[in-house]
Amino acid sequence: MAGPVSIVWFRDDLRIADNPALTAAVERGGPVIALYLLDESSPGVRPLGAASRWWLHHSLSRLHEELAAIGGALTLRRGEALSSIPALIAETGADAVYWNRRYGAARETDAALKSRLTDDGLEAKSFQASLLFEPWTITTGAGGPYGVFTPYWKACLNRPEPREPLPAPDRIEGLAPGGDALERWSLLPTRPDWAAGLRETWTPGAAGGHDRLEEFAETVLADYHRRDEPGLRATSMLSPHLRFGEVSPFEVWHRMRGGLDAAAAKNRAKFLSEIGWREFSYHLLFHRPDLATRNYRGDFDYFPWANPGDDVVDRWRHGRTGIPIVDAGMRQLWHSGWMHNRVRMITASFLCKNLQIDWRTGEEWFWDTLVDADEASNAASWQWVAGSGADAAPYFRVFNPELQAKKFDPRGEYVHRWVPEAGTDAYVEPMVDLRESRQAALDAYEAVKAAKQARDASARG
Ligand SMILES: Cc1cc2nc3c(=O)[nH]c(=O)nc-3n(C[C@H](O)[C@H](O)[C@H](O)COP(=O)(O)OP(=O)(O)OC[C@H]3O[C@@H](n4cnc5c(N)ncnc54)[C@H](O)[C@@H]3O)c2cc1C
Repeated sequence: MAGPVSIVWFRDDLRIADNPALTAAVERGGPVIALYLLDESSPGVRPLGAASRWWLHHSLSRLHEELAAIGGALTLRRGEALSSIPALIAETGADAVYWNRRYGAARETDAALKSRLTDDGLEAKSFQASLLFEPWTITTGAGGPYGVFTPYWKACLNRPEPREPLPAPDRIEGLAPGGDALERWSLLPTRPDWAAGLRETWTPGAAGGHDRLEEFAETVLADYHRRDEPGLRATSMLSPHLRFGEVSPFEVWHRMRGGLDAAAAKNRAKFLSEIGWREFSYHLLFHRPDLATRNYRGDFDYFPWANPGDDVVDRWRHGRTGIPIVDAGMRQLWHSGWMHNRVRMITASFLCKNLQIDWRTGEEWFWDTLVDADEASNAASWQWVAGSGADAAPYFRVFNPELQAKKFDPRGEYVHRWVPEAGTDAYVEPMVDLRESRQAALDAYEAVKAAKQARDASARG
């Protein structure tokens, strides 16, 4: 082997096509070490939840196969980036490290690594791969970040069109300095093995993701105007593939091009605007790295969240609230690691409003159980539902789960699939009265407003 050794540090971009860091390393010439680092302790890193760990295991195994097919291999190491990567450099004589950017709090580690490597005379380069629009490039007229989706997305659409996706390299000169066996990371559940529903629903990896994208573009997209009906398969189910970067947003964007009749063009624009919500969530996270733990709107710091015992939260977590559409959603989540978007809104609203439980409790449960658990979208969406977030639904708009079910699951197909006992004696009684609990939530919010006004008045002296 000859030539300089490069390291490609894979993170949320577990693919070989449209991977600018990998392409740059291959074009540089010389051996390439493809590295995945299980780093659970660097500052700003949020350890993955159980469903995401399941996904990661399979995704890494697929990525290794894809690399092997073109002459490469995936090296697995465990540890903090700021010590593990310099150690790998010392061991292998690598003189360049390439990666695709991330946008949450962990980017501080990336910045520190970059300056350290550069100071040592090594090459360290980062690339745009996970977002169509870099968060800092989209600014309001006043030069600040956006807090409202519609003008944000309009500003994105006024930018030059996202670049074409890059092809996968034909061949790489792989170098595998040795590392952990994937099994040693124990990412899969053992006792009990709760992943049967995940296996039945998903094929992690780029090939599985591209099958979903093709199926969506060819058939499902035509029904996208019915995307709010949870009993129907009318959305792409691409979220975990996008989350782990097995499918790139550039591939999705360009797959959606081409002439279409007006109805189809409308579905496509709506779908791309949902991809826009993903971008917007990252825009928010970039500017508020503590989005998963801190109210975006400070007045929510005064909200008197209820502090019930675990038994109450467990009824919600495990789909035993006695409200059929809520229980259906929570059971779908537990079984498959995914929940339909409309039902995510209903179950989240029920937790934050009817039960008055802090949105962070729900965010953490979703973080643990969703295969698409995403540090930007999960936090931004929970805050959106709770009313504490950017461009959020006003607090007084409390979803009525029964009306939602009537409207979006009128024949009860979705509820019947997940809660077959609903409507029979075997079903649990509702844990709260929907009308009373709605009113209690509104009263609590009024109290917050009054407390805030009093504080503001006293601050003004
Ligand atoms: C309380 C709550 C928590 C959520 N947590 C997550 C999460 O952890 N990860 C996640 O990817 N999405 C999350 N969402 C957003 C949304 O529910 C999912 O992205 C969507 O259901 C995924 O299904 P799909 O791929 O079939 O979506 P499609 O309708 O086919 O949309 C295509 C893609 O656009 C993105 N997208 C769609 N809607 C949203 C949205 N509202 N916000 C951000 N991105 C969106 C996703 O990447 C999705 O794959 C959450 C929503 C709520 C209300």
